[in-house]
Amino acid sequence: MKILVTEVEPDDGRTVGALLAVRGHDVDFCHPPGSTGWPCAGLAPGGCCPLTDGGADVVVDVRIAGGPPSAREMGAACAVAAGTPLIIAGRAPEGTALAERATLVCAPDAVESACAGMSDVRLATRDEGPRQESPRAP
Ligand SMILES: [Zn+2]
Repeated sequence: MKILVTEVEPDDGRTVGALLAVRGHDVDFCHPPGSTGWPCAGLAPGGCCPLTDGGADVVVDVRIAGGPPSAREMGAACAVAAGTPLIIAGRAPEGTALAERATLVCAPDAVESACAGMSDVRLATRDEGPRQESPRAP
């Protein structure tokens, strides 16, 4: 599965990305390790956004420490805009609709199984867009 990893903190995505790559996923990052460039790589000089230029099956927003939304996780916004399923690995930021817009929110260490379940979710929601309505939602 083609997975694009974005993150709140510069190193958050590296561990999760490495785990997913070990499990055989094709992992790409919004930001090269150590990069502090534009929030979206597509806006960096000569850069390209892995989501709009290559596509991804799912975008994983890594938020290990939770906290307020940061420009660094702009890939999550790109995912919502592109209609690509979004998984939040960690705590969703308060005061945003990110959790609501995400296909699912899970613990960072559960992200691999969440991705494994994504193909089912995609089949189920193919005609309804990226949002999955949960019957148990309040
Ligand atoms: Zn982007």
